[in-house]
Amino acid sequence: GSSRKLPLNSTQHQTSNIEPKFKNVYQQTEHVLQRNVSQQTFPYHCNEDNCPEPDEQFCHLDVKRRKTSVESMKLTNRKINLKGVAGLSDVKIVIQETFLLPLTHPHLYKLFPGTVKRCCRCLLYGPPGTGKTLLAQAIASELEAGLYYVSCAGILSCYVGESEKNVRELFEHALGQTNPSIIFFDEIDSVCRKRTDKESEHSRRLKTELLKYFENPALEESHVYVLSATNCPWDLDPAFLRRFQRHIYVPLPDREARQQIIAQRLNGLGVLLSEEDWYQILNHTEGFSGSDLTNFVSIAVAQPIREILRATYWRCPDGEHIMPCDPSAPDAFHATLNDVPPEKVKARSVVLNDFLYAIQETPKTVTDEHIQQFENFKKLFTR
Ligand code: ADP
Repeated sequence: GSSRKLPLNSTQHQTSNIEPKFKNVYQQTEHVLQRNVSQQTFPYHCNEDNCPEPDEQFCHLDVKRRKTSVESMKLTNRKINLKGVAGLSDVKIVIQETFLLPLTHPHLYKLFPGTVKRCCRCLLYGPPGTGKTLLAQAIASELEAGLYYVSCAGILSCYVGESEKNVRELFEHALGQTNPSIIFFDEIDSVCRKRTDKESEHSRRLKTELLKYFENPALEESHVYVLSATNCPWDLDPAFLRRFQRHIYVPLPDREARQQIIAQRLNGLGVLLSEEDWYQILNHTEGFSGSDLTNFVSIAVAQPIREILRATYWRCPDGEHIMPCDPSAPDAFHATLNDVPPEKVKARSVVLNDFLYAIQETPKTVTDEHIQQFENFKKLFTR
């Protein structure tokens, strides 16, 4: 007969027998768990000691092949529109008035000539993961505009002189287009900080170049919109803060928005939740950002798959039936998940307990003190 072997090590993951759709969920969860660990120690990207990764696309813009290179910074994922962004109803009203109505109903704006100007420089600020980048994508999609994404944390690490040149090229390219364009500067605080003695020559020159384009009258006459996002607006140089015609606060999702984001993530996964389940989940996720919620749902829905992967299997004496079992079961013969025919691998349904477990595994990235800081800033700057 077959010799008894050690039970399958519960930390040994075998994904070869898992349906591709579930494999993605599982791998995503592992990634999220790892990311959460690093986020716990460094939730905000505002530390001067933080050494940014180079913005690959931005640093390698090539003058000779300018058009293709700048074009490569365009984000092409246009599936999202404003309706797809959960909650944020006040923000959406401002966006409608600021960006969309002047294009769709120009006659309204002509009723008060000179008083209402097209907004071409706008700052989105708020805690990380609340949908600022998503809003930029949605605005671009509503305006049918090209969206150029610049990660400011990365551009400072380009060679000296290269970042300024690339800023110039990007603006000139966008200004030369006949269609609307949005240039989105993510984490603008990493470049446009308040002046300090420690400021490098590189950063100073880059700021000057940016300011030049922000103030360029051609921008007002063009179809170019400059959108910027930051998680720490109080660190911005006041010279830049003044240049934005709109400062829009993007807050944490409220209860209804949390439900919408969770439901979006569960869409198509066949998870059924009762009213009481929702009540508990929404109570426990108060203070979660949109990206916390995304991570949390990935962890919850992966629980049944993790159980399958980590279970110990045994083979019946007839050699045919293989089942998960307790490692101490008397007649357990070693079998692996790879021995189980795929059609016999059944994942149980996702239940409330999986969500409650995932809540514990998802640290909130935003603290109450930070919210207070944003509220204080909002009082000064929301226009
Ligand atoms: P930010 O730019 O504010 O840091 P993102 O726009 O990158 O945040 O959001 C991160 C992720 O969180 C998004 O890809 C999306 O999955 C989710 N998310 C955040 N806010 C929302 C929202 N209001 N509606 C839907 N999803 C959201």
